[in-house]
Formats: sequence, structure tokens, C-alpha cells
Amino acid sequence: MSKVEQSYNQKNLAYYCECFSNLKVYKTQKKGDALNKPILLLSVIDLITQNVITDKNIYISDDLIETFKKYWHLKYSSEYEGGRPQSIPKIRDDVNYAFLDDELFSLIQDESTRKELIDALVSSWLSSDENEIGEILKINENFQNESLEQETITESTDTLKTIPKWSLKKTLIRNAFFRKAVVSVYDCQCAFCGLKVTKIGNQNIVDGAHIKPFSAFYDSRIHNGIALCKNHHWAFDRGWFAVDDKYKIIVSKELEEVSPHAKTMTEFHGEILILPKVEKYFPDIEALQWHRDHIFQP
Ligand SMILES: [Zn+2]
Repeated sequence: MSKVEQSYNQKNLAYYCECFSNLKVYKTQKKGDALNKPILLLSVIDLITQNVITDKNIYISDDLIETFKKYWHLKYSSEYEGGRPQSIPKIRDDVNYAFLDDELFSLIQDESTRKELIDALVSSWLSSDENEIGEILKINENFQNESLEQETITESTDTLKTIPKWSLKKTLIRNAFFRKAVVSVYDCQCAFCGLKVTKIGNQNIVDGAHIKPFSAFYDSRIHNGIALCKNHHWAFDRGWFAVDDKYKIIVSKELEEVSPHAKTMTEFHGEILILPKVEKYFPDIEALQWHRDHIFQP
């Protein structure tokens, strides 16, 4: 990143988000090399989040190699080969490029800026081209399966020491993949109001909302998601509106609204949710019913 650095006076969050987005230039190289850097950065962020890496100078540890291989597996469903039989020396070569600036290290340590960096990295790693949506969904699904496997291991053992470190505290990274998957199938549009605002560099205003809360159900599959703008995500999580079996919007009768420049939420009552183009990605009817029964405040 050093050449890019020189053209910036200030190394802030926007600067690093842009650097991460520009990692996609490596996609023009052959398959194996192309994604080493995003995967490696993601692995480093993961381990900083877990306090496994506590220093901006990154050393090659077993934890880093293991985490790298896990992410590699999510993407390719195969073992990391590094293009050569001796896979670990190849990762060591890559790690030489992964030292962190002071500024970047502190941005990763902060939970809110970390989220943005991960989103930028995941967005650059995976484009939203229609023909790549299948791949994004596959990685999201792999993440889900991987989580379930890890949780089974956790339940069946008595001692905490045997839990793979990779399974801990990775919510932010898994959520970034979920968000990318959900937002892509809804073409970056809020399913409630239709709002779509994107900015160069893969940022957009729409979230991937869980229908049944992740904290209770651990379900990050595409059918448990709806793309919603920040306002409507917040309102959905609090049960201010729900969706019926025919995907019709039901708005709480208790809202008092002042909205001089846009349609009020109540005016959307009875309208059909804006759904993905492909029916197999529609939100799960049973999950929507659960949300009506447990979260919605009629
Ligand atoms: Zn909206």
C-alpha cells in the first residue's frame, strides 16, 4: 500500500477502506495468488479481534496459518496448496506483506471502524455481479455449516481449551458475508421502501437483516435474511412492522409519524415487500411468522 499512501495526507478509515477495495486488482492474476491478500488480511483482523494478535508486527504463527486455511476453505472448498507442495512457506512469503500501520492497527481494534473495514474487504473480495451471486451464497452457506460444525464440537467437549480459536468472536466477519449475500440478491435495495444508495468503493446504505435474531437462532442462511435500509432494519428488529405469508407489509398501529419529505411507514401498510428476482432466495415464510409472533408490536 506504500505507493498509494504517498498521495494521502491523512490515513483514516476512508483511506483504508479504499485500499482494501483496491485489493481486487489482484483478481487479474491466476486464481491462487489473486485472493491471498484479502484472505490474509481477513485472518489478521479475525485474530486481532480475538486478541490472539496483539501487536502491529505480524509474526507467522500456527494460529494465523490455521485461520488463513479456514477462510481459504470457505472460498474454495479445498485445502490451501499455495501452488506448491510446501504450502506453509508460501504463506510465509505472503505474510511479509501484512505488517500493519499504527493507524490501521488502531482502526481494527475499534469495534465500529473494524466493522467497516471488514465490509470493505468482503465487498472487494466478492463482486456483486449477477453471475457471482451463486458464489457469494455458497461462501455464506459454508460459513453457516462451518459454524454449526464448530458449535457441535464445542458442545461435545468439556474443556474450553479444545475449542478451535477460529470459532470464537467471529460474528463481525460472518455478518459481513451474510450482509454481502443478502444485499446482493436484493440488488442493494431496501425491501421495505425501495431505497438504494451506493457509493464507489462498494459501500451502500442497505443492511442484511436477520428475520429470526442471529443471537438466538444462529441462522445466517439467505432465507433468514431481508435487505433493509438502516431505518427499516432498526424498525423491523423492534417489531414496528412485520410481513405476512403473502409478503404483504403489516405496520404497527401505534406509530406516530412526521415525515415531511418521504412516505411515512404507515403508508406502506398492505404493500408487497420488494423481493429478490429469484424466487429461491425469498425470505422464509416460517421465519416471517416467527417474527410476527415474537417481535411484531401490532
Ligand atoms: Zn427502507
